[in-house]
Amino acid sequence: MTKKLFIKTWGCQMNVYDSARMADVLAPLGYQPVDEPDGADMVILNTCHIREKAAEKVFSELGRLRQMKDRKAEAEDGRMILAVAGCVAQAEGEEIVARAPFVDMVFGPQTYHTLPEMVAKASRAAGSVLNTDFPAESKFDLLPEESGAQGVTAFLAVQEGCDKFCTFCVVPYTRGAEFSRPAGQILAEAKRLVAGGTREITLLGQNVNAWHGDGPDGKSWGLGRLIRELAEIDGLERIRYTTSHPRDMADDLIRAHAEVPQLMPYLHLPVQAGSDRILAAMNRKHSADDYRRLVDRLRAAKPDLAMSGDFIVGFPGESDADFAQTLKLVTDIGYAQAYSFKYSSRPGTPASVEGSQLPEEVKEARLEALRQLLDAQQIAFNHGFVGRSVPVLFDRVGRRDGQLLGRSPWMQSVHAEANERLLGRIVEVRVDAARANSLAGTVVTGEHTTAFPFQPAVTLEASA
Ligand code: SAM
Ligand code: SF4
Repeated sequence: MTKKLFIKTWGCQMNVYDSARMADVLAPLGYQPVDEPDGADMVILNTCHIREKAAEKVFSELGRLRQMKDRKAEAEDGRMILAVAGCVAQAEGEEIVARAPFVDMVFGPQTYHTLPEMVAKASRAAGSVLNTDFPAESKFDLLPEESGAQGVTAFLAVQEGCDKFCTFCVVPYTRGAEFSRPAGQILAEAKRLVAGGTREITLLGQNVNAWHGDGPDGKSWGLGRLIRELAEIDGLERIRYTTSHPRDMADDLIRAHAEVPQLMPYLHLPVQAGSDRILAAMNRKHSADDYRRLVDRLRAAKPDLAMSGDFIVGFPGESDADFAQTLKLVTDIGYAQAYSFKYSSRPGTPASVEGSQLPEEVKEARLEALRQLLDAQQIAFNHGFVGRSVPVLFDRVGRRDGQLLGRSPWMQSVHAEANERLLGRIVEVRVDAARANSLAGTVVTGEHTTAFPFQPAVTLEASA
């Protein structure tokens, strides 16, 4: 008998990947994904702990789900197994069990391959099953093969965890130590995805460019080598990777940007701040100029590389002058797109006990100023494409009838009137209009004529 499974996912793309793999583990037990939690036999909240609000949202969601669980029981429609997974579960497992005892299972990101055992225990036991160990075995060795096709674009986790211990960040505590999957396992998963219709794979990791593993040839490979091997898979047209750390950008990976046509010209490379004093306090172990030089080298290898990043404003002790350095760095680099966050104090991290925490209004004002600058850069970047043609991989139907959605090589979301038979194909689209977050275009036939319109990198000399 099929059972209804609802998974709600917060946070990063790694969580999106984990949620898909949880569904794979539960499929042999008869669980099939549904779009609504009401009436489901199992609801999993796959949570994110990176900022404070995310954890609070989980508790308010649990309040709503408790009512659904009670309704299902009252209607004698079976039992709703309620689970909290992911990084909030890892960090605050015991608190969840204490604050929400109606939750049946609480488990971290490293133990979901044991879901069948946890479900069996939860079905027998009255209390919550708590599983937040860091097991010695890797879940990747024990997970079943992915159940069926993932779609035109797919995520593939290659690396997990982090040993860098930035002073603001919980990831090293919730995801554990850095771990790379073996190359053979990754290549096999990529081949299965492509055989199932995937045309674009995004390699995932908290520090994806720190990936290193033994190749099938017995030699130690870095991410550049892995990308070259993936590019040999027939039918895999696009490769991306995220998220990278500036310290792990190896020469061979930079060369891969120049040499591997399937590697898309878009790089998410967080720098967090532009002041060396703050970067040192964050334990980033690189300076703002190291980052500028790195971007110069990347753009020398791949002149049309579009840059993305993450920024934190209002880190403890950040002065107006420090923040001005962040704005200066953003101006120098020129981002196609970027994420910016107010510093959020996370219990257990070194920065959370710094005496010099900044008032909320200061953080708000800085976030607003940074966002204005980043938004202006993103709009200018997108407007530079109007009247030009871009190759778009259509991967979804749009909201409007007859409309398809896809992505340009530079990660812009593009929509156009197009026949559904173009789903999964790379098609030339002339850009008619640009908005902050998307491009609108018309499908064209003929040669690809894109000239990259964006004026990138101000070099270090020019910006000094
Ligand atoms: N490993 C990646 C890196 O080093 O760039 C990022 C991983 S983290 C999941 C994603 C982003 O969340 C970070 O780049 C950072 O900008 C942001 N972040 C992490 N901890 C934060 C905190 N305590 N407050 C605000 N933003 C935070
Ligand atoms: Fe967090 Fe820093 Fe590790 Fe990124 S590198 S996951 S920001 S500790």
